[in-house]
Amino acid sequence: MSSDDTVLVINSGSSSIKFQVIEPDSGVARQSGLVERIGEPEGRVVLHHDGEVLEEVGRIEDHRSGLRKAAELMASVGHPLPESGIIAVGHRIVHGGSEFYEPTLVDDRVLKEISTLSDLAPLHNPANVVGIEVARDTLPDVPQVAVFDTAFFHTLPMPAATYAIDRDVAREFGIRRYGFHGTSHQYVSERAAKVLGRGTDEIDQIVLHLGNGASASAIAKGRAVDTTMGFTPLEGLVMGTRGGDIDPGVLLHLSRTAGMTVDDIDALLNRRSGLWGLSGVNDFRALTERISAGDQDAQLAYDVYVHRLRKYIGAYLIELGGVDAITFTAGVGENAASVRRDALADLEMFGIVIDDDRNENGQGERRISADSSSVAVLVVPTNEELAIARDAARLVRS
Ligand code: AMP
Repeated sequence: MSSDDTVLVINSGSSSIKFQVIEPDSGVARQSGLVERIGEPEGRVVLHHDGEVLEEVGRIEDHRSGLRKAAELMASVGHPLPESGIIAVGHRIVHGGSEFYEPTLVDDRVLKEISTLSDLAPLHNPANVVGIEVARDTLPDVPQVAVFDTAFFHTLPMPAATYAIDRDVAREFGIRRYGFHGTSHQYVSERAAKVLGRGTDEIDQIVLHLGNGASASAIAKGRAVDTTMGFTPLEGLVMGTRGGDIDPGVLLHLSRTAGMTVDDIDALLNRRSGLWGLSGVNDFRALTERISAGDQDAQLAYDVYVHRLRKYIGAYLIELGGVDAITFTAGVGENAASVRRDALADLEMFGIVIDDDRNENGQGERRISADSSSVAVLVVPTNEELAIARDAARLVRS
């Protein structure tokens, strides 16, 4: 074990690969980057290194050539991957099903099972599998570790994990609530406890991960007891292009009366709903600009977003019987002060009071509640890559 050890963390999506070379012990990201628009005419590789940003534009045929280009760019700044002290490659894997709930060394069997789980996460797991295959080819002697987005929610109590449908059907097809964004919820809840100077096992908390995807979790003494995403990452909060909760009867109706196919409905739910569906934009900054310009659709999208958020905050306050902390994280949660203000407005009677100045100013991990607030309201930037790097390092060193 050496403090020079690094972990290459890979988050492989359908048309992009995010990567970081991280020192798991210090938390320093030595390099980070992105390969995007894979398979499109104009691809892009970006590398952040020593405060500089290098960029290469051109067609990137597939994930394999994307990772190779990234490796070449790293070599060109004097840090070839084979000489970067990489002790493991950590992969973010979206769906671990019921089987995987610990960081897991990838061998052929594990890879095959992750691939089989693609039925449960068709948007994500296939791309994750490609990421592992490409990393294995690029660094054949380095152990590959899978870290599952569902793992933290493995502890959901049965009443929270169970859909009230025919139990035989549920059993046969693995229908239950799995939860996602687990790495972020776990990391942020641990940091939140640190900010408060308490142990995770001493506090009850709500974590609000509000990014392009969004989810909330209820965490009792370090154990996840509920979360908004369920069988797939479609359930729960309003997101960039996903609408979250919907009456399943709507889908039956669209199938029967609008003649929509399963694929049409899939596209509607995954890509044409949420903020985008309501307003035509999925980026929160663009949404905010439209609201300022008086766009009523954008305003309604925002109001639906906040309404759903408040509904779940209320639900989790009751489930947990009160909380010590509510923490905002991810792109919207870390940056959009208006969402934090509106999500927790008028909750003085529950001991929740935001300090406007703290909410609107400041950076990084911080408390934004007023001194009079008995519930601590925090902002904690998420760092899923660091959490994955630490999980991977722990596993290969053990
Ligand atoms: P993530 O998935 O965590 O990267 O979050 C992406 C979302 O965060 C997008 O909707 C962005 O518009 C939003 N976001 C990023 N920066 C800001 C910002 N400064 N203000 C408001 N929203 C932001």
